[in-house]
Amino acid sequence: MFDVQKLVRENIKNLAPYSSARDEFSGTAKVFLDANENSFGSPLTKWYNRYPDPHQVAIKAALSVIKSFPAEQIFIGNGSDECIDLLFRSFCAPGKDNVIICPPTYGMYEVSANINDIKIKKAPLLPDFQLDLIHLENLIDANTKIIWICSPNNPTGNSMERSSIEMVLNNFNGLVVIDEAYINFSKQKSFIQELQDYPNLVVLQTLSKAWGLAGLRLGMAFASEAIIDILDKVKPPYNINTATQELVLKALEEVGQVNDMIKIIVDMREALAHVFKQMPSVEKVYPSDANFLLVKIADARAVYDFLLTQQIVVRDRSSVELCENCLRITIGTEKENTLLVDAMQAWYNK
Ligand SMILES: *Cc1c(COP(=O)(O)O)cnc(C)c1O
Repeated sequence: MFDVQKLVRENIKNLAPYSSARDEFSGTAKVFLDANENSFGSPLTKWYNRYPDPHQVAIKAALSVIKSFPAEQIFIGNGSDECIDLLFRSFCAPGKDNVIICPPTYGMYEVSANINDIKIKKAPLLPDFQLDLIHLENLIDANTKIIWICSPNNPTGNSMERSSIEMVLNNFNGLVVIDEAYINFSKQKSFIQELQDYPNLVVLQTLSKAWGLAGLRLGMAFASEAIIDILDKVKPPYNINTATQELVLKALEEVGQVNDMIKIIVDMREALAHVFKQMPSVEKVYPSDANFLLVKIADARAVYDFLLTQQIVVRDRSSVELCENCLRITIGTEKENTLLVDAMQAWYNK
């Protein structure tokens, strides 16, 4: 049986969380002299002199409606990257515990593990970029706390097979984190709706990609209340600043506009994939459920360098295992995509 209290680090289980001024008194009053703020104001909007809501109540309420999911089971981080770090710090004992990742995948899992002195075990994806379940199972030991699954995956772009993810969820007694940063670009259903069946599941999403708000830094973790309570206890009290909270709240009213953008990006992804496939020396355009394409190309590094001379920056993934000679190309605006395609054609015609 899965028991989150057995999984959490001993020092975290016993941690008395910081109690902020806003925690001790959160009602209305005429005079606030409890948080050593500057009562005179600020050079900016007048309320920026006050600390932000440490619990992001308004944002969670709005997200709860959009996601049809209970607010008590939502954690908000300063980007998904903070959620990733907090999962390590809450559940993995440095120098003792380990986690499993499935490369090629998002780089922050490994960096965050290294910062926290957590051992990384690797079950590389199969040549078709799907999970290697047998290898995964063989890596699990008594100190394995988290299995990280990125779906749709960065940089490969594909979604993991649902049945494989379910197999991991059903057979692993630690946490299974599914990073759904790109889920809005995919036809796959989010695993958020499965959370009631899996107490060991954490789903990560972000406003950085489909919502176009990478600069505001807002990531989300969806999980059982028990897991969310632990992350809340460990996070810095004021991790989401007032400007971000205000702007995100406004943005969350525009679901329709975001859905329109997603549709355009997905259409352009398919159109661009078609154009790339016609190009000489493009060996493969991998199917993508994300807002980028992974393209295998002869002489990827030289193409990358040439594009730079045309002031176009893509991501060179040539040195990544299983992504040899691959460029990762984000879908841009119509104009940007045309510039890219023209530049690539110019390269071949040189
Ligand atoms: C871009 C990306 C994120 C987003 O991280 P933020 O910190 O929320 O900007 C998370 N996971 C993956 C796989 C990504 O590619």
